[in-house]
Amino acid sequence: MDCVFCKIAKGEIPSEKVYSDDDVMIIKDIDPKAEKHYLMIPNRHYKLISEMTDGDADALMRGIRKLPSLAEKLGLENGYRLVINQGDDAGQTVFHLHVHILGGQSLDFPDLRK
Ligand code: AMP
Ligand code: ZN
Repeated sequence: MDCVFCKIAKGEIPSEKVYSDDDVMIIKDIDPKAEKHYLMIPNRHYKLISEMTDGDADALMRGIRKLPSLAEKLGLENGYRLVINQGDDAGQTVFHLHVHILGGQSLDFPDLRK
C-alpha cells in the first residue's frame, strides 16, 4: 500500500518515533508547524473518521489518554492542542488518519475566515 505512515510503521521510511504501543505510534512531524509538533498515528490503516470501527475508536482514545503521562517527556507540560484534518477543506494530505499534537509554545487560535 502506498501510504507514507504505513511505510514508517514498517520501518521502510525513517522517522523520529517518540512512542509506540499496540494501538498507536507517535512521531515527530517532518515539517513542524509549532515548537513541538507530533503525529499520533493508529497502527491500523484507515483514512477517515467515517471509516473508523468501534475498535479503531477505542484504540485511538486509548492513545489519546496516554498523552497526559507522556506530556513532560514530549515537552508538552504546559498544554497542547490536538487536530485531526479530514478531507479537502481541512487540507488533509496523508490519508491514514492521524492526530496532530501541537505545543511547546503559546498557541493562538486564528480566525480562519480572514
Ligand atoms: P495532514 O495534512 O493533516 O494530512 O497532515 C500530514 C502531516 O504529515 C503533515 O504535517 C506533514 O508534515 C506530515 N508528514 C508527511 N510525511 C511525513 C514523514 N515522512 N514523517 C513525518 N511527518 C510527515
Ligand atoms: Zn497507512
